[in-house]
Amino acid sequence: MTIILKCLNCKTEYPADAVRYRCDCGGLLDVRHDLDALRPQVSRALFDGRAAAAPAPHPSPLTDSGVWRYRELILPASETDIISRREGNTTLYHHPRLSEYVGVGEFFAKHEGENPTGSFKDRGMTVGTTQAKRIGARAVACASTGNTSASLAAYAAMAGMPALVFIPAGKIAAGKLSQALAYGAKTLQIDGDFDDAMTLVEKVCNRLGVYLLNSLNPFRLEGQKAIVFEILQGFGWNPPDWIVLPAGNLGNTAAFGKALFEARELGLIDRLPRIASVQAVGASPFYQSFKTDFREHVTMKAETIATAIRIGNPVSYERAVRTLAWTNGLVASVTDDEIMDAKAMVDGAGIGCEPASAASVAGTRKLVRQGIIHPDDTVVSILTGNLLKDPGATVAYHTGEWQNARLANAPVQVNADVDSVQRVIERVI
Ligand SMILES: *Cc1c(COP(=O)(O)O)cnc(C)c1O
Ligand SMILES: [Zn+2]
Repeated sequence: MTIILKCLNCKTEYPADAVRYRCDCGGLLDVRHDLDALRPQVSRALFDGRAAAAPAPHPSPLTDSGVWRYRELILPASETDIISRREGNTTLYHHPRLSEYVGVGEFFAKHEGENPTGSFKDRGMTVGTTQAKRIGARAVACASTGNTSASLAAYAAMAGMPALVFIPAGKIAAGKLSQALAYGAKTLQIDGDFDDAMTLVEKVCNRLGVYLLNSLNPFRLEGQKAIVFEILQGFGWNPPDWIVLPAGNLGNTAAFGKALFEARELGLIDRLPRIASVQAVGASPFYQSFKTDFREHVTMKAETIATAIRIGNPVSYERAVRTLAWTNGLVASVTDDEIMDAKAMVDGAGIGCEPASAASVAGTRKLVRQGIIHPDDTVVSILTGNLLKDPGATVAYHTGEWQNARLANAPVQVNADVDSVQRVIERVI
């Protein structure tokens, strides 16, 4: 294989088919590609040609999937091993009302909620389950705030592999739980929060030889790099000034930096956008560490309406610190009220997203107000998950259960007669 696993910390190398998620020293692992060998093989034209290929009667993930189109930069798997659901190819929205809201003319929102199970996790999971198949894993597992388990359950079902998901009891949005159950994953509700479930699943996987597919697993992150490759390709390989994303376990923050670094090394781009990772105030360990210039590694008990980023001890911490160093990046934090109002703006524009996703929009707005992002910058924010993932949060916001909803669209009780309906309608149109 042309790839290896390498410890971020002590630089020890392991073969790519090793079943391990950390170095013996405890450090995180990277998938390392042989960039010198790749340089003559990959080019803008190669990827542009695949993107433009006409759909064939027997579609290939190389042309159809927004992940496997970049296979050389992700995982050199043979086509017969690839478990793909045409992930990626997500819309880059541009909407005047959102531009005005954040204060940036060239503001774009890339909607990862359009992936097969409704979140960007599918980009990582198509690669993770493909790697599981390649190494002959007998089962796959994850701990999850919801979307990872939904995605794992679906891809494992497609591959015919048993799936185990560990979720914090009572702390997972209805849409996500329903997916894990529906796709047939064995679902274990843990008495504790996400961080407890994460610690537990790592121990269980090591003891039982089950393949762990959290973003601790470096192959997951290789797939998530494709979000960045698609953005770069969508902009004709002329990078935006900023990429703004929600940050929980920091897998995406890690993947984005690695993608940008490699794209520049391979000559696909000649400068890097700045990465801004956005956390919820109540789940902001990375923001607080950033504030100390990473002299302190802060962890905390996390609480936020945005359950997908309700994480107090993010796994990919060191990888994410590296991303900020590579991209001159930064971390911001926003309140739950700011998140929910930004979500109402995204939803009201007809686009729609789940609460965590809106942190990227709220964060952009805040960074513009602080004078860090300039109104004439080009900004891409990542909408990480679909509106339907968390109906509870949306309904609470619009029905008065959410205290400070500035953009609530409450349902109206009306008598079942035409006069009453007319009185209501005349107020609106
Ligand atoms: C997983 C997830 C996040 C957090 O991403 P990390 O890579 O863990 O930082 C944000 N939003 C949504 C919708 C998610 O599913
Ligand atoms: Zn090590």
